[in-house]
Amino acid sequence: ATPMSIMTATGRGAQAGVLIKDAEALERMAKVDVLVVDKTGTLTEGKPTLTDVVSFGDMDENEMLAMVRGLETGSEHPLAEAIVEGIKAKDVPAASISDFDAVTGKGVRGTAGKQKIALGNAAMMKLIDVDHSAADEQADALRTQGKTAMYVAINDKLAGLIAVSDPIKATTVDAISALHDAGLKIIMATGDNEKTARAVAEQLGIDDVRAGVLPEDKKALVDELHKKGHKVAMAGDGVNDAPALAAAEVGIAMGTGADVAVESAGITLLKGDLRGIVRARTLSVVTLRNIK
Ligand code: ADP
Ligand code: MG
Repeated sequence: ATPMSIMTATGRGAQAGVLIKDAEALERMAKVDVLVVDKTGTLTEGKPTLTDVVSFGDMDENEMLAMVRGLETGSEHPLAEAIVEGIKAKDVPAASISDFDAVTGKGVRGTAGKQKIALGNAAMMKLIDVDHSAADEQADALRTQGKTAMYVAINDKLAGLIAVSDPIKATTVDAISALHDAGLKIIMATGDNEKTARAVAEQLGIDDVRAGVLPEDKKALVDELHKKGHKVAMAGDGVNDAPALAAAEVGIAMGTGADVAVESAGITLLKGDLRGIVRARTLSVVTLRNIK
């Protein structure tokens, strides 16, 4: 494409909140046939709210919540922020925590006085060797509603369940349907649980789901698609997503997300509105047409 046609396209994109970093990103977008998309913060608002708290056996709910609040105060994960805010709203104070440890893609753990506490997904429970089967029926019911359910373990025993709900962005439904109309296959890749992921994917008509993935798995998925001959766009907002954004033909970051995601991407959607992907593709098609 000519420098002039590229400038015109990037200018139009910028007006619509679609920042195109370079000519490569613009030119490659028209050739993409698969979109890999992160769930939390990309398809969804990424601003979850605490919706459910369950405690088991003789565990006092407020005592558990105080420890959870203390624990999540040490985490920068969007889930942690939601949990802290939700417990604060219940007027439960934070217990003080020592030995804080965040395990990427799994959860958090620490010590409150004489008690050990851990919060996270099944992988977190596996890491500390806690049997969570007694909570699974309730957890799965929450997940079927698209909520993220996490296990709480105290002194290496299952103590409770906590769930948060993260609404799908208002613009996502239209964006996904337009991308389907443009002939793209859409795959969700998320660190979240399979049931939660499927519930969200079904609401959007997404073709395929890879759940429970770790950051390196997202990049591996892009590599796997390349081996099958696909041209891949990857959209994400997290530190987690950066390796996959860099590996894709076109990385698409949310301007609302982590700086490292934006740095790894060729396109940034200023407000995180996924309709910007449709816009970028149209601009790309028009620009390439102008070469001939
Ligand atoms: P995503 O890919 O959806 O952004 P992550 O890979 O960051 O998700 O996290 C995967 C899962 O690990 C979460 O769904 C949650 O169950 C658990 N997890 C991670 N961090 C935390 C935390 N601070 N508190 C509780 N659970 C967490
Ligand atoms: Mg995310």
